[in-house]
Parts: sequence; C-alpha cells; structure tokens
Amino acid sequence: MGRAFVYVILGGGVAAGYAALEFTKKGVSHGELCIISEEPVAPYERPALSKGFLLPEAPARLPAFHTCVGANEERLTPKWYKEHGIELILGTRVKSADVRRKTLLTAAGETISYKFLIIATGARALRLEEFGVSGSDAENVCYLRDLADATRLVNVMQTSAGGNAVVIGGGYIGMECAASLVINKINVSMVFPEAHCMGRLFTPKIASYYEEFYKSKGVNFVKGTVLSSFVFNPEGKVTGVNLKDGSYLPADLVVVGIGIRPNTSLFEGQLTLEKGGIKVNGRLQSSNSSVYAVGDVASFPVKIFGEIRRLEHVDAARKSARHAVSAILEPEKTPEFDYLPFFYSRVFSLSWQFYGDNTGEAIYFGDFSGTSFGAYWVNKGHLVGSFLEGGSKEEYKAIAKVTRLKPVIEDLSELERQGLGFVVAL
Ligand code: FAD
Ligand code: NDP
Repeated sequence: MGRAFVYVILGGGVAAGYAALEFTKKGVSHGELCIISEEPVAPYERPALSKGFLLPEAPARLPAFHTCVGANEERLTPKWYKEHGIELILGTRVKSADVRRKTLLTAAGETISYKFLIIATGARALRLEEFGVSGSDAENVCYLRDLADATRLVNVMQTSAGGNAVVIGGGYIGMECAASLVINKINVSMVFPEAHCMGRLFTPKIASYYEEFYKSKGVNFVKGTVLSSFVFNPEGKVTGVNLKDGSYLPADLVVVGIGIRPNTSLFEGQLTLEKGGIKVNGRLQSSNSSVYAVGDVASFPVKIFGEIRRLEHVDAARKSARHAVSAILEPEKTPEFDYLPFFYSRVFSLSWQFYGDNTGEAIYFGDFSGTSFGAYWVNKGHLVGSFLEGGSKEEYKAIAKVTRLKPVIEDLSELERQGLGFVVAL
C-alpha cells in the first residue's frame, strides 16, 4: 500500500502551516503536496496553548487559532487545505524514514514517497523520568506540548479551582502556565533549579522585575532546588511534592516545563545532526539534497552571528518554513536564510520582545519600577541584542531594525543615557 507526492511535509505544527501557505503562494498543483501529522487536527498556532487556550473566560478554541492567524495571514482551516488540493494525513505517526529510497513508513503500514521532504517534526517535552523522578504519568501531572496536553490541563485546572498548583521549571512554559493558573484562581508555587526565572535569557535584574510582579499576584518562588519525588493518595493522584532541599509542597495539580528534545530520531544515522537538531545550510537543506528541515528540529546558520543554532520559537518556525519552500520552488531567486532571532512572551498585563543575542554586557534603560524598560547587549563593541518590556509597536520595530544593523557602540554610558531614544533616533 502506498502513495506518492512531489512534496511531503512531515509534522503538522506551526512550520507545516506556514510552509503550506508559501507553497500555495508560489504555486503548487492539486495533489502534489501532503502533510503527515501525528496530531488529529490541522496545523495550529501552538503558542495559544499556554495563553488564550487556558483563559477561564472566552478561551481560544479551534478553529480560531489554526495557522497562519498568528501572523495576520489567512487562517488555514481543514477546508482551506481541501480547496487548495493539499492532502492532510492526520492522526498518523511516521515510524520510519528511508532518505535513500525517499520513503516514509506510517504506523498504519502505509509507504509514502516524496521527491522533496520537509522535516517539521518539532520537539517533545522532556519528562521528569529522564531526571530520575517517577510518577509523572499521574492524572493531575500535566506537560504542555500539544492540543491534547492543553485540553487535559484545562480539565485538571477546572477540578482544582481554589487549590494549589506546583509548577516545575522556570522557563517559558513555567512562566506562562503560572500566570494562567493564577488567572484561574489557583495558588501557585514555582520550583526551579536556577537563581532566577528564565535563566537562559533574562539577567538577574530583568528576572527580578517579573518575579516581583508574579509575587504581587501571589506566586511563591522556590528557587535553587528541584523535585525529588511525588506524594500520592491511594487512588494514584498526586497530593504533594517533595523537593531536594527537604521541603514539601501540597499540590492538587502539577505542571512540568523542563525543556524539550527535538524529534530527530527518524533521521539519526541518515542525516547530519548538530546542536541536537538536523543540520541544514542557508537553504534549509540537510545533508541529503532532497530533504529540508525547518522549525524547532532544524539547526541552521544564523548568518548575523556566524554560527549554527537551533531555535525553539515560533517566528523562526514560520520564517524557516517559508524560506525552505522558496528554496525548493525558486532556487535561483532565493538567497541564503538571514534570520534575526526573535523571542517574545505575554503574561498578565505584561508583554516583552527580544531580538538578537544576549551575549556581552547588558545596558539597561527605562523605568524598572514602572511599566516600560529594557536592555541592550553590547558584545565586542557592537550592539547585538535588545529587550523591551511594555513597548509600542513602533518601538518594537525600532529595536528589531537597529539590532539587525549591529551598530558600533563606542560609549556604553552614552547608550545608557539615550536608552530607547538610541533606536528610535536611528
Ligand atoms: P511543532 O509546532 O511542535 O510541530 C511538530 C509537529 O510534528 C507536531 O504536529 C507533531 O505531532 C508532529 N510530529 C512529530 N513527529 C512526528 C512523526 N514521527 N509522525 C508524524 N508527525 C510527527 N514560541 C514563541 O516564539 N512564542 C510563544 O509564545 C510560544 N508559545 C508556546 C507555547 C507552548 C505551549 C509551546 C509548546 C510552545 C510555544 N512556543 C512559542 C514555541 C513554538 O510553538 C515552537 O517553536 C513551534 O511550534 C515550532 O514549530 P514546529 O513546526 O517546528 O514544531
Ligand atoms: P525552557 O527550556 O524554556 O525552560 C526549562 C526550565 O526548566 C529551565 O528553567 C530549566 O533550567 C528548568 N529545568 C531543567 N531541568 C529541570 C528539572 N529536572 N527540574 C526542574 N527544572 C528543570 O523549556 P520549557 O519547558 O519552559 O518550554 C518548552 C518549549 O516551549 C521551549 O522550546 C520554549 O521555547 C517553548 N515555549 C516558548 C514560549 C515563548 O516563546 N513565549 C512559551 C511557551 C513555550 P536550566 O536552564 O537550568 O536547564
């Protein structure tokens, strides 16, 4: 049993949706393209799962957040794929791949062949078991990667109203879920090993602003320690957690966000890997010329910083996907991918954006006791990164534009004095 397509996108997440849109913009004939996804629904904007989806009132639900609504483009509903002659093969896991033969084998036993393959398999959430803690499959312990996880989290939240939640991890999932839990009137304790939240991006000064804000909303921070074991009731439900520092926290609900691993396993031994992802060139092409990789699973050259990086953010997924399609369909017209890293988050009334690289010395500006402040990172005499909380659309645009230029900074104190004025003036 088998089917043949010219183009196959493996994975039906954010990158797949944006790639599909680009295929239709550049011209693809009916029946040439298919998307194979383990998820039972058409590609959607994954960021909604830790934000609008978790709201107690008027929560976001599909079809409202199918891609590509996040970039104010068309909303690609299942009907859209049908109208464009794109085959959606949903609820289907690919269990093996043969890049030499250009075939994929699904768990249902179907062989699907391609001329060009775009790998967009994203990543999976790391589990506590991988750190030696058992029992995270209990009904009230929640991970958050896909729609099924988010639906489960909503159900557990609804049965825990007024109760206690323990959030494990102080990264993106931890911060966004803690805020959503508070909005759902659940008492939150956040537990993470670092000295402050968002350890990979925030400096202590930036982190302290967010931690103080969270504390004002009632969040309890337990830092510098990790979970050592769960405590269960006789029905197998978690009732609390023991921490390595010897303390105990009661819990009606536990949310775990301790990082991800890219889904590369189908291609290990067949394609070159680097930094945990599938290594691609500036055309998003892997070590096999018929195979491209995009989104969380791809390690690509970030030209502006002259090194290969793997990014785990939606803007990179959207743009790398579009670029790969362009490189496949219009190879002569498509330059090397030249991407400026962009990360953001929105929680409570807060909203920040970051562009570039957080290396070198941080120079702060704005009012850290108010609602708008930021930082520049200056490395080897160049501005390489910018962070802004509470900015306007124009201000975010300005920090992005200037960061891309990597301007020379001769006088750090002058940059500090000018603050946001530095980018607005340029
Ligand atoms: P994914 O969107 O993860 O899609 C991968 C797809 O591949 C899935 O459908 C999966 O089921 C499928 N798949 C994997 N293996 C197989 C297989 N063997 N067979 C078939 N199908 C397979 N980033 C931001 O920049 N801002 C945010 O606010 C933000 N919020 C987020 C909130 C949450 C809850 C999560 C989980 C992530 C968030 N991110 C955010 C990160 C962002 O969503 C990811 O960077 C982005 O989804 C990556 O897109 P992708 O297409 O590479 O992977
Ligand atoms: P992150 O990598 O952002 O954060 C993981 C956090 O867990 C870190 O603080 C990490 O500490 C900590 N940690 C690691 N191991 C343990 C452990 N055993 N016990 C307790 N804490 C631990 O991953 P997330 O899970 O938060 O997010 C998953 C993915 O979703 C990421 O790709 C992220 O980019 C994406 N996402 C992005 C959002 C956004 O951009 N706004 C929103 C939501 C998700 P350490 O640094 O020391 O390892």
